[in-house]
Amino acid sequence: MKINHLGIATKGIDEALKFWAGALGLENVHTETVEDQKVRVAMLPIGDTRIELLEATADDSPIAKFVEKRGGGIHHIAVEVENIEESLAKLKSEGMRLIDESPRVGAENCLVAFVHPSSANGVLLELVQKQ
Ligand code: ZN
Repeated sequence: MKINHLGIATKGIDEALKFWAGALGLENVHTETVEDQKVRVAMLPIGDTRIELLEATADDSPIAKFVEKRGGGIHHIAVEVENIEESLAKLKSEGMRLIDESPRVGAENCLVAFVHPSSANGVLLELVQKQ
């Protein structure tokens, strides 16, 4: 396993890029809207992983709620797995609480599923499988 990316909730990607790309010097290599999750994302490689900047595209987006409550910040950690179905089955068999019982298509056409923070020490965990 490895950390595929760190998801950071922002009020707006363009504004956030002034820090992450402009001031810090990371490169934004990919921007896309994930309709299913009502977010726009920007991917900035850093070492073997990436920073994923997230911006809500609708008022009822999970990111809109997060930003409203906390003003932004680390939203989730994404762990890359070989077989997401197997990982979900294993977590379920261990009694862990899943947000997604089965994978959805996320950014960059990856399969993704979220594990509830109540099972991961308050951390929202995203499982990612490249396909
Ligand atoms: Zn993510």
